[in-house]
Amino acid sequence: MSFEQTAKETLTNLLAIHSPTGYHQEVMTYIKDTLTHLEVPYIQTVKGAVLATLQGEEKEGRLFSAHVDTLGAMVKSIKGKGTLTFTLIGGYMYNTLESEHCTIMTASGKTYSGTIQTIKPSVHIDGGEARSLERKQETMEVVIDERVFTAEDVRALGIEVGDFIFLDPKLKFVESGFIKSRYLDDKASVTVLLEAIKTLKELPLKKTIHFFISNYEEVGHGAKAALPEGTTEFIAVDMGAPGNDQNSSEFAVNICAKDSSGPYDYELRRTLERICKEENIPYATDIYPFYGSDASAALGAGYDLRAALIGPGVFASHGYERTHMDSMKATFDLIVSYAQK
Ligand SMILES: [Zn+2]
Repeated sequence: MSFEQTAKETLTNLLAIHSPTGYHQEVMTYIKDTLTHLEVPYIQTVKGAVLATLQGEEKEGRLFSAHVDTLGAMVKSIKGKGTLTFTLIGGYMYNTLESEHCTIMTASGKTYSGTIQTIKPSVHIDGGEARSLERKQETMEVVIDERVFTAEDVRALGIEVGDFIFLDPKLKFVESGFIKSRYLDDKASVTVLLEAIKTLKELPLKKTIHFFISNYEEVGHGAKAALPEGTTEFIAVDMGAPGNDQNSSEFAVNICAKDSSGPYDYELRRTLERICKEENIPYATDIYPFYGSDASAALGAGYDLRAALIGPGVFASHGYERTHMDSMKATFDLIVSYAQK
């Protein structure tokens, strides 16, 4: 099977499992089962991240990370009229959630369908205010698809403050190669890492290669702990940011020179760019104005290592996102090439 076929399957599987930050057990089971099936050794850290290792001739290690946690939401309060206010998990905009399908999961694991609406959702009732209302926590709510009219009705379903609200990622593969979905950040990269593991496990490796599947990246502390001893290079595989005044591409692997945390390791960045040039891997170097990665988190935690950030270009990040299969393939090619050097 081609990269495209297997990547599509893996991405579909990953996106079908809800994994907002703080709810990672199910998706990590999928990751662990995949690694077990591939006969690749791994450990799970106390915090729940999964660390897989392909042993090389040298103990000195190179680590690739991608994060499987996503944005999400949580029940903040239950209103008297039987709807829910919600709090965002991760940094994004309330307006991107309007009209989205969602699922509320109770403590017992029971799920209920709902829709995210503004508190003035009908032009026939609310007129101009339906349009002009600022989209924020106070003006948005979850309308549950059950016959609930009071807070007591909602509680009778088992729904409580603190329950997770999962958003429908709306995955769509388009004939032209584009992939549209929420949470391509960073499940597109997790997909690429899993595909890279499949390829690299069959090849002789000079350096030991680690793969860190992170579960708290969106809240900033994903890779701040439990990195394997001997890791000298940390290459975060996370989305590039194409858009206004950006150099990133949806058709290339994006290499970050600098983000909000400052410049990445100069030599490592130049090495990755050189490999792309030599091996005709499409790439784009860019600067991300509002961005931090698990590599910068590791540095911030005090680890002494060289950090880099590469990844597929994701348009409209933290909204309804889009990338292209070419971008995932270019990221895969760079990882597989560099891991063997
Ligand atoms: Zn990310």
